[in-house]
Amino acid sequence: MDRKDFIRTGLAGAAALALDPLSAFASPLEAPKPRASKTRLHLSFQSGKAIGDSYAEKFDYMESLGVEGFEPGGKELLNNFDEITKALEGRNIKVSAICAGFDGFILAEDPAVKKTFDTTMRRLIEAAGAVGSTGVIMVPAFNSQKPCRPHTMETRDFLCEQMHELGEFALSKGTTVILEPLNRKEAFYLRLVGDAAAICRDSKSEGVKCMGDFWHMQEETDDYAALMAAGPYLRHVHVASRGRRINPGEDGNLDNYVNGFRALKEMNYPYFVSFECGTAGDKAVTTPAAVKLLRSQWQQA
Ligand code: MG
Repeated sequence: MDRKDFIRTGLAGAAALALDPLSAFASPLEAPKPRASKTRLHLSFQSGKAIGDSYAEKFDYMESLGVEGFEPGGKELLNNFDEITKALEGRNIKVSAICAGFDGFILAEDPAVKKTFDTTMRRLIEAAGAVGSTGVIMVPAFNSQKPCRPHTMETRDFLCEQMHELGEFALSKGTTVILEPLNRKEAFYLRLVGDAAAICRDSKSEGVKCMGDFWHMQEETDDYAALMAAGPYLRHVHVASRGRRINPGEDGNLDNYVNGFRALKEMNYPYFVSFECGTAGDKAVTTPAAVKLLRSQWQQA
């Protein structure tokens, strides 16, 4: 290429950028073609997503859709431990994660509230270990939980120390604790997957992990970058439609998970993508359609 060609090419590129100022940024973050990957998509349902009156009926329904993970709430697990473990026997369904269920919160200023958290969280961790769960999901503090330790360096140090202790306890029970970033309307303290991963790293315990939730990840600038940033700390993923937090696909073109799925495929993510959402329609129709959509987008990623 001589100098004249170089200038011409450069001008053409500049003209293209002037027409579409985002084109230079969009290209590396989109998935132009599917990646060759042997990593499978392991889907999971929270309890309310599966159709059926009993756990046996719910698990039959999940198996009919090829859903391999079950995510009960923590209190639900404790209250129905025997029934759940019996209904899971001999099935191709594992407990994917335990969704919270503790009382109190870890950043409580009131020592009694913090103590309640410590006691109830450890009870959940023991139950999670007993059912082979990947971990117990927790949020450091919801906006509504007060009085809360202030958003300072000292609080972050305190959180890392406390998470270290919880993580080591979880490891001793064969499971983990999983930090979930939420959006700013629910929990200003922890909003970004990469920030949760940094807290995992600084907690210095293999028992401290984090997750991404495609609904809350409206906080992120890019799904792919957010999930890649979590790397080895990523232990669980929640999925919902991206406009109204209902079944994937019910919000039409908004419900694009391809970039996030591409990150999961590239990191050989072996854990679950779990539905945490309702529906605006008939769940007997919208739920199987959502499963189909996610499988199709996984193929595209
Ligand atoms: Mg969630």
